[in-house]
Amino acid sequence: MRRAIIAIVFVLFAATAVAQPPVAHQQLAREIYKELIEINTTASSGSTTAAAEAMAKRLREAGFPVADVQVLGPERKGNLVARLQGTDARRPMLLLAHLDVVEVRRDEWSVDPFKLTEKDGYFFARGSSDDKAMAAIFVANLIRYKQEKLVPDRDIILALTADEEIENSPTNGIDWLLKHHRQLIDAEFALNEGGGVMLKNGKAIANRLQASEKISVTYRLEAKYPGGHSAVPGRETSIYLLADALTRISRNAFPVKLTQATRGYFEKMGALESGQDAEDMRAIARDPMDTSAASRLSTRPSYNAQLRTTCVATRLEAGQALNAVPQTAHAIVNCRVLPGESVAEVQQRLAEIVGSDKVSVTPIGSPTLSPPSPLRPELVRAIERLTGEFWPGAAIVPSMSAGMTDSRYLRSAGIPAYGHSGLASEPNENRAHGIDERLSVKSFYDGLEYLYKLVKTLASGE
Ligand SMILES: [Zn+2]
Repeated sequence: MRRAIIAIVFVLFAATAVAQPPVAHQQLAREIYKELIEINTTASSGSTTAAAEAMAKRLREAGFPVADVQVLGPERKGNLVARLQGTDARRPMLLLAHLDVVEVRRDEWSVDPFKLTEKDGYFFARGSSDDKAMAAIFVANLIRYKQEKLVPDRDIILALTADEEIENSPTNGIDWLLKHHRQLIDAEFALNEGGGVMLKNGKAIANRLQASEKISVTYRLEAKYPGGHSAVPGRETSIYLLADALTRISRNAFPVKLTQATRGYFEKMGALESGQDAEDMRAIARDPMDTSAASRLSTRPSYNAQLRTTCVATRLEAGQALNAVPQTAHAIVNCRVLPGESVAEVQQRLAEIVGSDKVSVTPIGSPTLSPPSPLRPELVRAIERLTGEFWPGAAIVPSMSAGMTDSRYLRSAGIPAYGHSGLASEPNENRAHGIDERLSVKSFYDGLEYLYKLVKTLASGE
C-alpha cells in the first residue's frame, strides 16, 4: 500500500515536472559547472587551456574518440573543439560558449568568486551566468547524447573558447579558430549566449532569440587651429572647435532604422507591456513608422539603443600648459553601429554632423562587422514548440544586443549565429561582469533540459 502511494506520488510528480532532467544528469551537469567555475580563467592570471583540457578529459572518458576532441590555441588561451559525429545528412551545427571570465576583486564579493556557492536558490560565482553555465550544459548534454548512442543527422560541434571578454580583436578565441581551423568549426548555424528567458515577478514572459547585435566602432576627432600665447587669444581655438563638434554630436541623433530583429522585438514587447510604451512599440513596428512614437521611445536609453546607431564622447585630450592655446584637441567618440551599416557610413555621417573642415573624424582599428542572422524557420519552430512546453505563454521575442558577443565573428564569417540560452532571469537580476554574479538554480536545471531538447531537435530533424 505504502509502496503504491509512493508510486502514485512519484507519477504525479513526474507528470508535473516535465521540464526536469533525470537527477543523475543534473548531478553531472552541476559537477561540470563546479569544475569549470573553480578553474580560474581570467585574462590576468587564469588559463582557458586548463578549463578546455578538463572538459576534453570528460568527453574522452565519456567515449568521444580522441580525434574528435581537441584543445587548440596559444599558451593559457586554449580552446576546446569537440564533435559528436552524425550521419552527415545535413551540415553541422555549432554550440559556442566562452570559457574566459571577467576579472574580479575578491574583497568586493560576499562569497569566494572562484568557488561554486549555492545559497538562497542561486549559484554564486564569477562565470556562473557569463558564460560557464552554458559551457557546462553543452558538455553535460553532449555526454548524455553519447550515453544514449544518439546519431544525429548532422554533426554537433562544440567550441568552448578563450578571449570573449577581450575588447579588441584579433583574439585567441572563436576569431582565432575561424582563422586557423575553420574546417573544424564550420557549420550551417550556431547557438551562443546573448538571449535568455525573461522573467517578470517569477513568471516567464519572453524567450529571446538574439539574431543580431550592434558593433562597437571608435572614432577619433581631431580639431586643428593655430595656437599661441593665452594672453592674446583669438575667438577660435582648437578646443572650442572640438567642444562645438561634440555638442553637435550630442544634439543630432542618427536616423531610426528597424531590422527584422528589432521590428519583431517591438511588435512582441508591445503585446507584453502596457500603457503608452506598449502603444508606442506597436506604432513603430508598423509600416510606415509613427515618428512621434519613435521620439517618445527614444528618450529612454535602452529603447533608443534598439532604434538607431548611437555615438557618445568617451575621452577628451587637449593642451600642454596652463597658459598656452593648443594647436590640436582630440576626442574619442564610441559608436554602437546597427547591423547593416558600415564604418565608413557612420564616419561620413559624423563628419556631416560636425560640419567643419578643421575637425577630422577617423575610425580607430578595424572592427568586425556583424550582419543580422535571418530568423531560420526550422529554429523558430523548434523554439516555439519547446517554449510552449517549458514556459507556457511566454512569447518568442527576436532581439538585437546593444553590446557585443562572439556571434559577430561567426556572422561576419558567414555562419548565422543565434544568442539563445534557455536560462531565465529577472530584468535587473543580471550581474554578469559585476559583483556576486549569480544564476538561479532553477534556471540552470531548466536551461540544461531545454538546451538538451532543443539541440537534439535541431540535430535530428525531429
Ligand atoms: Zn559572455
